Amino acid sequence: MISYSEHFSDADFPVGIPHPLLVSALESARVAYQKPIVVTSGGRTPEHNTEVGGVEKSTHLMDATGTFKGCDIKCEDDGERFVLLGILMQRFKRIGVYKKHFHVDVADDMDHPLWKVWVGED
Ligand SMILES: [Zn+2]
Repeated sequence: MISYSEHFSDADFPVGIPHPLLVSALESARVAYQKPIVVTSGGRTPEHNTEVGGVEKSTHLMDATGTFKGCDIKCEDDGERFVLLGILMQRFKRIGVYKKHFHVDVADDMDHPLWKVWVGED
């Protein structure tokens, strides 16, 4: 097993390598939340990204070193969403809010501007 932090390992990210900034922000959120944070989607190949309907320049896509900057975490409950969103807002500068998950990433480039919260369909 490859451990990325106290609470996250390659069991959470079976494909590719999560960017260190993604891991540190997630770990910090996990500690604040005091409950498991379930990663539902991490690194993707271009084929897998197309298959799951990911956007063209998705932050789930791996770079040449196999590193990716975005992941999805499970959240289906209105009350939990309120708590978790508050925690994520303090640690991520890009957050997607969906009915059954949050998307968080640490990308910062022309295609992925900072200080964005967007709402999407699952
Ligand atoms: Zn996502």
